[in-house]
Amino acid sequence: MTTIQLPDPDTVARLANRFPTLLRKQDSPLPCTTRPTLFDADSGTVGGGRAIVPARALCQQCPLIVACAAYACHKRERGIWGGTTSHERGLAGYPPKPHHELNDSRRRRRRAN
Ligand code: SF4
Repeated sequence: MTTIQLPDPDTVARLANRFPTLLRKQDSPLPCTTRPTLFDADSGTVGGGRAIVPARALCQQCPLIVACAAYACHKRERGIWGGTTSHERGLAGYPPKPHHELNDSRRRRRRAN
């Protein structure tokens, strides 16, 4: 598990708001759009723990890593975002939404953008 360092809540919100625009400006597909199931996995899911290491490694190569982690915190997402897990973001004060409140999965949102 990684302890994540996040900026103050206002900065998290500002970075999160920029994330959709930054996504649209990417010329090449990001790993999480080409291998989404790897990133949907999380430490709280069956088998999800195995995906954390490779997904985190792919995030480390991504130019959006900081804004992505901020977006996931701000939107209380589940899965691996910006190289962080739901559990790690929860420990930093941004617990994920309960499953029944999820309506904005990574894949649905990416298709809409
Ligand atoms: S940092 Fe975010 S946008 Fe980049 S590959 Fe990881 S999950 Fe995808």
